[in-house]
Amino acid sequence: MKDSVYRAPKGTRDLVWPDSERRRSFINLFAEIAGSSGYAEIVLPMFEHREVFQRLGDGTDVVRKEMYDFEDKGGRNIALRPEQTASIVRSYVENRPSLPWKVWYAGPNFRYERAQKGRFRQFDQVGLEALGPEDPHLDIEVIAIAWRFYEALGLRKVNLQLNSIGTSQDRVRYIEALSRYLENQKEFLSKESQDTFAVNPLRVLDSKRDEDVQVISEAPSILDHLSDGAQSHFNEVQEGLEKLAIPYIVKPTLVRGLDYYVKTTFEFTSESIDAAQDAIGGGGRYDGLAAEMGAPETPGVGFALGLDRTLMACDAEKSFPEPEHMLEIFVVDTTGGANALVITDELRQEGFKVDRSFDDRSMKAQMKAADKSGAKIAVIVGDDEVSNGVVTIRDLRGKGGQEEIASESMIADLRKKLR
Ligand code: AMP
Repeated sequence: MKDSVYRAPKGTRDLVWPDSERRRSFINLFAEIAGSSGYAEIVLPMFEHREVFQRLGDGTDVVRKEMYDFEDKGGRNIALRPEQTASIVRSYVENRPSLPWKVWYAGPNFRYERAQKGRFRQFDQVGLEALGPEDPHLDIEVIAIAWRFYEALGLRKVNLQLNSIGTSQDRVRYIEALSRYLENQKEFLSKESQDTFAVNPLRVLDSKRDEDVQVISEAPSILDHLSDGAQSHFNEVQEGLEKLAIPYIVKPTLVRGLDYYVKTTFEFTSESIDAAQDAIGGGGRYDGLAAEMGAPETPGVGFALGLDRTLMACDAEKSFPEPEHMLEIFVVDTTGGANALVITDELRQEGFKVDRSFDDRSMKAQMKAADKSGAKIAVIVGDDEVSNGVVTIRDLRGKGGQEEIASESMIADLRKKLR
């Protein structure tokens, strides 16, 4: 079906104040927390050569069904980024920064998904990646940063689900065992899971369909297929989280959607939002990805948190409220506007947040606009004020009282009132 041309395309929206402001505060808070942990911002292209994202796995939905890809005018196969980890590893392979390399990012991703509440075709994520160390302490650091960020947002109903999917060799052995099991149980699986099985047996474990739940609950566990190295890595991650008093649940079916993960995988869910869309973030280790793109073997670990869905959880928990109105002063000028022009500029230079109205509207219309603006104080200039060298200051909140003050002391008086 064709979208109407002058509407935002399906799965996209315009964010206006206060949502746009809240988005910015969200990113600023994340920047502060990631920055103070030694992560520097990286700003990536919104599109890459399609092959970069092919690394997410040919059998994954993201690559098979959801990629916004096209041939550009120069005949290149291009895709809008469906996520940013692959781009970061591409950037690492291209620029070879010294290790450890710790970066954070924020911005939109694009997936051609079934648009619904909490699921968009353009959606924002914040996230970070750390390349270099194989140390389980780094997995713990990354998880802890996400956890502390949720705490800083005021979220209390977040669950951390943790798993290890072993090394790539462990996974090969596990997929064999899982496939044998699923082959025998195939007739009990939903039609969708039977199709998934044919393409990517691991993804069957993601299914939440009623028919599949029983089959999945009795499936062999990846945790019985871990090599010694992967097992001790997993143990250390768990011990570290316990030391930091970060609660978690081990969930052996947590394989995550993308092929590149090894060892640690994790997901954050919110108890306070709709169960079908309850994942608010996730991540894991991807030690082989850089090598797949042509660099020497370089371990990596990171996460991505969905901004839109995390804010839905904040709404449900009544945390991280929408910002207050940002204006402090509204200048009302009934002398034609020339005074507003000068006063507004002067006050803005002094650091006040100031607006005014235009088109020489009536006093009444300007006062209405002042009320609507959310400003705390109206500075009113009429002919009388000009001839007496004063301005009238009216309190737009509270009691609504007003007084005249000398133009000369206007800035000092406003500073006293507002700061
Ligand atoms: P993923 O890259 O699929 O692991 O996603 C990480 C997080 O991004 C998820 O937990 C969601 O919170 C969010 N997310 C993923 N896809 C979407 C989408 N289509 N719309 C909104 N949020 C999304």
